[in-house]
Amino acid sequence: MTVACSTGRHVLAYDCSVAPEPLSYTTALQSTRQFVLERHGEAGWARLRDAVRERHDIALPPEFETGGWLPTAWFTTALNVGRDLFGPPDFHERYGRAAAEYEVSWMHRVALRFTSPLWLLERGAEYWKRAHSTGRWEVEGRKGFVRGTLRDFGVVDAGYCDSLRAWLLRACLMTGASRSFVAERSCRARGADVCLFEGTW
Ligand SMILES: [Zn+2]
Repeated sequence: MTVACSTGRHVLAYDCSVAPEPLSYTTALQSTRQFVLERHGEAGWARLRDAVRERHDIALPPEFETGGWLPTAWFTTALNVGRDLFGPPDFHERYGRAAAEYEVSWMHRVALRFTSPLWLLERGAEYWKRAHSTGRWEVEGRKGFVRGTLRDFGVVDAGYCDSLRAWLLRACLMTGASRSFVAERSCRARGADVCLFEGTW
């Protein structure tokens, strides 16, 4: 996959020419940092960075400059270590909800109110390519129902899928859909070929 590496000078602390590994746009790690800062302060973020370095030999920078790509594994690892350090067990879901709040701008939120979860997921499939160098979505649906299939995401991680489900649910609610429900019907972290999400509203 070369999409992320084509950004050239924007790649931070990572040389694509050496090891083409799955990358995610800095937004993911910026959201992770913000989430930890809001709940556990600067000391909590420092503690998380120390633990990620000690346990996984990953040196997360203190801050993430916008406009770069970083290994997706840094992001999923930071979340898993965060859950271990801080809890509670639904740490990933809480993060996913918060990340949707951070990542959907006020302007987009206004626009979302005039649309539907189906529209959101169709646009989201395109947006995904700007957020992750791996994984592709197939989306189908009708009024009141949407199915999104995520294939070939570069990191298989049950916690990440929990956060993704919560992100999708929060974003669906932003469209003004009430009684929304999002479930992950099959997951690669549980041995399936694809991660399949279904939403109703
Ligand atoms: Zn999954």
